[in-house]
Amino acid sequence: MRILPFVLSLTLCAPALLAQAGAAARRSVSDAEVERVHRSAILIDTHNDVTSFTVAGSDIGKADPKRHTDLPRMKKGGMAAQFFAVYVAASYVKGNRSAHRALEMIDTVKHDIVERYPNDFQFATTAQGIRDAHRQGKIAALMGIEGGHAIEDSLRLLRRFYDEGVRYMTLTHSNSNNWADSSGDGSKPHDGLTPFGEKVVAEMNRLGMMVDISHVSDAAFWDVIRVSKAPPFASHSSARALANVPRNMTDEMIVALARKGGVIQINFACQFLSQKSADASAASQARIAAKVLEVEEKHKNDPRGLREARQTAIREVQREFPPVPATIEDVVAHIDHVVQIAGVDAVGIGSDFDGVGCVPVGLSDVSMWPNLTRALLERGYSQSDIQKIYGENLLRVMSANERVAREMQAAR
Ligand SMILES: [Zn+2]
Repeated sequence: MRILPFVLSLTLCAPALLAQAGAAARRSVSDAEVERVHRSAILIDTHNDVTSFTVAGSDIGKADPKRHTDLPRMKKGGMAAQFFAVYVAASYVKGNRSAHRALEMIDTVKHDIVERYPNDFQFATTAQGIRDAHRQGKIAALMGIEGGHAIEDSLRLLRRFYDEGVRYMTLTHSNSNNWADSSGDGSKPHDGLTPFGEKVVAEMNRLGMMVDISHVSDAAFWDVIRVSKAPPFASHSSARALANVPRNMTDEMIVALARKGGVIQINFACQFLSQKSADASAASQARIAAKVLEVEEKHKNDPRGLREARQTAIREVQREFPPVPATIEDVVAHIDHVVQIAGVDAVGIGSDFDGVGCVPVGLSDVSMWPNLTRALLERGYSQSDIQKIYGENLLRVMSANERVAREMQAAR
């Protein structure tokens, strides 16, 4: 690993040293300590896709073992705040229905979550709002748009979404849009951000909407680092050094993000956490793509039954290539890695629960956060480290975005 001068001093902190010493450094931790430290932290998860189910009618208040997320388990897990994904699939670009979909997703957060369970959730739009909800014993509910195509290339719509309470926007999803390239799209038409994309970032800075660089191409990331006046963040990304996929961040990117005051919120998808999981997932994806083509070819003159044949083919491949699960140890390894290269102020949590199929053993739903607290304590992280990782780092980034917005608006 190349040691960058900036991170040299930061690598001398205790958890990093313990992490380097490996499993031998584990200390024993009592249940009482886990509970005390867990309760002392403001646990903020910056990405959860349960909204894709609530928008279709499922009730977040009812225990639902088919999902990763429901209110009873959020309470059990001791969550303080959840950024709910206002996810707009690329398919809505066709027919200009992206903003329409974003409004429906905003409505499900407000109507199906906050208004339906007012004793449990409190809508929040600021760092202080998260602290206030937490003090009142409620879970702060916040919103982040996933997929910049939601603004339909309009700064006016961006401002409308800010007014609705959206506090971050992931500049792309897996699709490049008219002004930013995605990591999930081979075409990369803009080599990063276009001049309009830079204007979007500037307007987000002026409004106080955090710029989320998860999903964007490396070139778009570096453009954000160059132009953003406020610290950007990655709402749900992991480290490419440990799982080499384009969705993850290189060490250079993580260090640059940290230098800018930002934070990488570790994603729990197995294929982003473990190279073995990533390889297995890539193999099954390739096989699924080939199988689907085969089935489509077979049904090309007879579309009846195509849908079912496609499903059957996918299920067959999944049986042939079962997912290789990641573990809670993999999550800790990603946190350790970021701490080693960029410091404990640069890492947080963005689970992607209910947005991904495979999640880590031991950390497979929103009730299991205390397992992570235990694993971090065993690894030598202090109470104050855990408070930073769980919430204070993100609150710092959010406050900095609020400050930059105030300054930019005052300077007008
Ligand atoms: Zn995502």
